[in-house]
Amino acid sequence: MRDETKCLHSGYTPKNAEPRVVPIVQSTTYVYDSTEAIGDVFDDPTKSLIYSRFANPTVMAVEDKIADLEGGIGAMCTSSGQAATLLAILNLCKSGDSFISTTQIYGGTVNLFAYTMQKYEIECIFVDCDASEEEIEASFKDNTKLIFGETIANPGLNVLDFEKLAKIAHRRNVPLIVDNTFATPILCKPFEYGADIIVHSTSKYMDGHALQVGGVIIDSGNFDWSSGDFPEITGPDMSYKGIIYTDTYGKSAYIIKARMQLMRDFGVYPSAHSAFLLNLGLETMALRMERYCENAYKVAKYLEASDKIESISYPGLENDKYYELGQKYLKGASGVITFNVKGGKAAAVKFMDSLKLASNEVHVADIRTCVLHPASATHRQLTDEQLEAVGINPGMVRLSVGLEHVDDIIEDISQAIRS
Ligand SMILES: *Cc1c(COP(=O)(O)O)cnc(C)c1O
Repeated sequence: MRDETKCLHSGYTPKNAEPRVVPIVQSTTYVYDSTEAIGDVFDDPTKSLIYSRFANPTVMAVEDKIADLEGGIGAMCTSSGQAATLLAILNLCKSGDSFISTTQIYGGTVNLFAYTMQKYEIECIFVDCDASEEEIEASFKDNTKLIFGETIANPGLNVLDFEKLAKIAHRRNVPLIVDNTFATPILCKPFEYGADIIVHSTSKYMDGHALQVGGVIIDSGNFDWSSGDFPEITGPDMSYKGIIYTDTYGKSAYIIKARMQLMRDFGVYPSAHSAFLLNLGLETMALRMERYCENAYKVAKYLEASDKIESISYPGLENDKYYELGQKYLKGASGVITFNVKGGKAAAVKFMDSLKLASNEVHVADIRTCVLHPASATHRQLTDEQLEAVGINPGMVRLSVGLEHVDDIIEDISQAIRS
């Protein structure tokens, strides 16, 4: 099936006289005929449902749909994008380990990697996404367990050079984990370019309507865990009578361990109702992504031609620094544009406050056009040095182009620029 069809049909196939739409199974628990039957499930929770802290039929239908769209062998939804990133890392790193991340990542992920994980003695080594192979390889330590990067960085819009990072990661026998939130599987399929694990904030384009906060981890099943140093996956888990994930679950070892161990213990699973809403968004994702790209390109062209705009980043623009990488890896440059208004911070704030259609909100990838000033919002906690490192100018505006008629969006921007 093609993506448009998967968006509608993957993950749920009703049998005779069953509901056409994925049902909301709003139940914490599941009933068994006997004590023995329940006991069996505790030996291997993948065999049946036990408790909605780590598995639920509505959520699982969505997990299967997303896994299919990304071309993975399994997925696990989480209650936020942050939780997806956290568990994706914790599934491989324990205290005393390190991992490498590109510097150009979402501000919330910077906080998680640079501050909170540090408190648990998991070290993040930051490298510039455009650093050379030699530089990145030189930052490896003996305890480095993975490389992390974003397909289209939020908000710098740097496009990740997948093949470069995958090559280094695999030479070092560690996986490449990619945050594919801004591209979605419609515009980029990171597994085709060597990524091993994908995470998303489903709160963004997947949901699309600003209805639910959620995340997901997808496993390609391609990484050979026995090639590297991953005792948590290739060694016994005493919380399940010494089960060895790679022996019992083969290619699905990573994603099953994430559910059986981390989701069981941390319990950051979404509700059935949230998954139902996410599924509605996914049904139209392919269609929406096409229009986001089309609208954003026209808006970017308009901004590029304006003499009030100092600089603009949009990987779909022919002059953009990441145009070539975008052409190589993306089917479209998505709906987010960042630009610097002439006159710095004050002018940027004045521009934003003059918008009438576009709303000022801490969100991106809404179906409605919205704007954000990263330096005073999402990236407020970063120092000036960190802001510079992640590519954020104090006058930068992040514009998330919505699905209104593009002429209405441009007219709104044009009157705000005049103001
Ligand atoms: C929003 C976002 C996150 C965090 O997701 P939440 O759902 O807000 O927790 C992670 N990565 C990227 C690229 C994001 O845009």
